[in-house]
Amino acid sequence: VLGSDVDEDMEIDEEIAEDDLLGGLQIDASDEIEVPDRLVDQVIGQSHARDIVLKAAKQRRHVMMIGSPGTGKSMLAKAMSQLLPPEDLQDILVYHNPDDGNEPKVRTVPSGKGEQIVDAHKEEARKRSQMRRFIMWVLIILVLGYSLIIMGQILLGIIAAGIVYLVFRYMSRGNDAMVPNMIVNTADQQTAPFEDATGAHAGALLGDVRHDPFQSGGMETPSHDRVEPGAIHKANKGVLFVDEINTLDIRSQQKLMTAIQEGEFSITGQSERSSGAMVQTEAVPCDFVMVAAGNMDAMQNMHPALRSRIKGYGYEVYMDDTIDDTAEMRRKYARFVAQEVEKDGRLPHFTRDAIEEIVLESRRRAGRKGQLTLELRDLGGLVRVAGDVARAKDKQYTEREDVVEAKDRSRSIEQQLADEMIERRREYGTTVAEGSMVGRVNGLAVMGEDSGIMLPVVAEIADAHGPGEVIATGKLKEMAEESVMNVSAIIKKLSNEDITEKDIHIQFVQAGQQGVDGDSASITVATAVISALEDIPIAQNVAMTGSLSVRGDVLPVGGVTHKIEAAAKSGCDTVIIPKANDQDVMLEDEYEDMVEVIPVSHISEVLDIALDGDARKESLVDRLKSITGSALHGEVTP
Ligand code: ADP
Repeated sequence: VLGSDVDEDMEIDEEIAEDDLLGGLQIDASDEIEVPDRLVDQVIGQSHARDIVLKAAKQRRHVMMIGSPGTGKSMLAKAMSQLLPPEDLQDILVYHNPDDGNEPKVRTVPSGKGEQIVDAHKEEARKRSQMRRFIMWVLIILVLGYSLIIMGQILLGIIAAGIVYLVFRYMSRGNDAMVPNMIVNTADQQTAPFEDATGAHAGALLGDVRHDPFQSGGMETPSHDRVEPGAIHKANKGVLFVDEINTLDIRSQQKLMTAIQEGEFSITGQSERSSGAMVQTEAVPCDFVMVAAGNMDAMQNMHPALRSRIKGYGYEVYMDDTIDDTAEMRRKYARFVAQEVEKDGRLPHFTRDAIEEIVLESRRRAGRKGQLTLELRDLGGLVRVAGDVARAKDKQYTEREDVVEAKDRSRSIEQQLADEMIERRREYGTTVAEGSMVGRVNGLAVMGEDSGIMLPVVAEIADAHGPGEVIATGKLKEMAEESVMNVSAIIKKLSNEDITEKDIHIQFVQAGQQGVDGDSASITVATAVISALEDIPIAQNVAMTGSLSVRGDVLPVGGVTHKIEAAAKSGCDTVIIPKANDQDVMLEDEYEDMVEVIPVSHISEVLDIALDGDARKESLVDRLKSITGSALHGEVTP
């Protein structure tokens, strides 16, 4: 059933509990899962792109795929080449042109025929040179014999024989010229070619003619022998794949366009001052289907004419980053593990538990509830590292613990750095995760894409001599000012203090680190400022993340899961997150029990949780609720 498109029984699927990570698959290990033969059937998700590839292969249309790296673009392009008819394959031969040595002739023959032709020419050349050599030796003997016996002149004889030898050497020079140069040989190919020209320079893409250091004097390599095919020629009758299409230089894109249009493209030397540049072959066939790929940027930066050519003669398709987490999909992810193990060839298969851990990880990486990640190159990387871990221990199967170990090993640089920082701060006692303090809040920030760090914020209020200002240092200054501005509307209504007459100092403790993104710390700053202003302490076991609107609404932010995990690692047991992010939380098991996650939608809730309880807090929160609830909500249009 797996891998085929047989309609899976939906009723059964719905009955399968959500916590069955293998979607009802009854197996003990991944070696029981059958991997489909055709690459196109191995593709997981991307049903839209898959359909397009099937259609485009049938109609020989070009395809443009836009999407995140590692979601299967090159896999689909390769799959497409397997779908094209291999009967059409051709061998391409380049011949010496006796009329003009710099314009080699090009001939195309059916697949497999090229080798026969080359062999026949070689045989012929061999016979001729044998014949020549025979005649040469007969002549040499005759000349030598004549001068020696009849004329008695040995020196003259040797000189004459030498001349004969040189004349024959010179004549046989043209011999190589007879044998054609087979630049495309498809004899051993079972499927249509797949050529990946990602990042190829002009020569590799369009073909080249090698430089000849001996351009004359009987030593030169004939020009047709120096012709080298480009990816466009090797992809003849198959698929030319170009990822990051926008990074191809404009001239190459233009030439690629010509090649697509004409279906043939003559080869010339690409470096201008080399002897190869004088050579230009007849047109060489390059009848390929183009699969261009890239991310969203690629589309903006690629040659507009090239894009419209692909669009006009083909399809554009967007790749999905995630897919619905259904029982059927989870079964496919189990098959994915089997696929990756078999593709690698050396890894031990995965036990049921180990596969489940991979499925869990793909849930987590999706970053959204009810979804699985389709960034499968990275997930495949995890499969390989886990398999390697098991292999290093000489295990017959890769087990759950190996996957867990692999996850730890394949942490990103940012993750490693963040973990190191958290560790060090705890050691030096700079992390405060208990008690309470005025003006100090445990904020949370992300580093890189997949790691969080606790970022404490301290606010201090001082009387200003003149108009007050927000004083913050470093990159986060702007964000601090904005947060204070947002919160000032609320404070104005809330407090007797006029904060425009105060200097507000905001310090991000240890935020000097590279890559810390403080963009989502505005509830943190606001909470610290209100605490400092009202002189009410904040519980330090609480960490928080969230963005703040002028109305006091808590808005969603990125990276909540990583932030919560960072808070847990730092010793906090309560984490405040925006309610809108509630569904993005996918904690690893070990953190589930360490922290309580509290989703909130308004700053009053934040203060209710974070401020250390006494009567003044109660009244502050009440006042906050009343003013923001009525007065502010009506005023500001969203
Ligand atoms: P892209 O070209 O989008 O960067 P690739 O096609 O090179 O990604 O994917 C790299 C590898 O990741 C593939 O060889 C395959 O093992 C795995 N992979 C990626 N996407 C998928 C998918 N949709 N289904 C199955 N495997 C996938």
